[in-house]
Amino acid sequence: MHKVNRGIKPKSLNDNATKWTRELLVQVPLNKTFTDIPSKYVNKYKQEDVKQVLTQMYEGLCCYCESPIGVQTYEQIEHLKPKSIFPRFCFEWNNLHLSCQICNISYKKANWDNDNPILDPTVDNIEDFIEIDLESGEIIPISNNERANTTIEHTGLNRVNLVKRRNSIIIIMKKLLKIAVNANEIEEFKEILETMSVDMGYKLLFSSFIKKI
Ligand SMILES: [Zn+2]
Repeated sequence: MHKVNRGIKPKSLNDNATKWTRELLVQVPLNKTFTDIPSKYVNKYKQEDVKQVLTQMYEGLCCYCESPIGVQTYEQIEHLKPKSIFPRFCFEWNNLHLSCQICNISYKKANWDNDNPILDPTVDNIEDFIEIDLESGEIIPISNNERANTTIEHTGLNRVNLVKRRNSIIIIMKKLLKIAVNANEIEEFKEILETMSVDMGYKLLFSSFIKKI
C-alpha cells in the first residue's frame, strides 16, 4: 500500500450519487440480505468515469497489494467500507478505491473491524503504519499498530505469492545496488528505482529500499 491523493469526483457520481443512494436505501429493508437486493440498485457505481479516475489515482496499481492491474487480473472498484454493511456509502466517492480481484474477492470481502479499521490510502500516511522487512519480504506493522494488523489480515498482504514476488524484486535490487556502489552511481540507481516502481508496482517496497540506501 502507498498513499495517494484522491482525484476529483467523477461526473456520474456528482450527478447521481444522492439519487442512487436514496433508491438503494429504500431497497435495504425490503430484502432479507444485502445480496438479495437486485443488482440494478447496487451496481451503479461501476461507471467508466469512476474506473478512469481511480485508475489514474492508483496509477493502475491495486490499492492494497500494489500489483499492476490488467496483466493477470481485472480491476475492481473496491468499497473500503463494505457496501453490505454500509449501503449508504455504496456510491460515496471517498469510499471507492481500485483493487485487484484477489485482494477484493479472496481476502477483503465484507471484512470490517469498527475498532481498528483498515488503512485508507487516500487518508492515512501508509508509511507511518506499515513497512517492508527487506529480509523476509513481509509487510510488518510499525509499533504493532492495530490498524496495520487489521489491514494486513483483511487484505492478505502477506499471502505466499505476494511475499515471493517481493522477495524476487528485493534480490534483484540488492544485486543491482552492489553494482551501483562499485560504479559510484548510487544517485542514478535511486532514480532508476523510482521510475521502476511506477511500471512494476510495489511502490512501498521500492520506497522502503530507497530509504535504506
Ligand atoms: Zn491486490
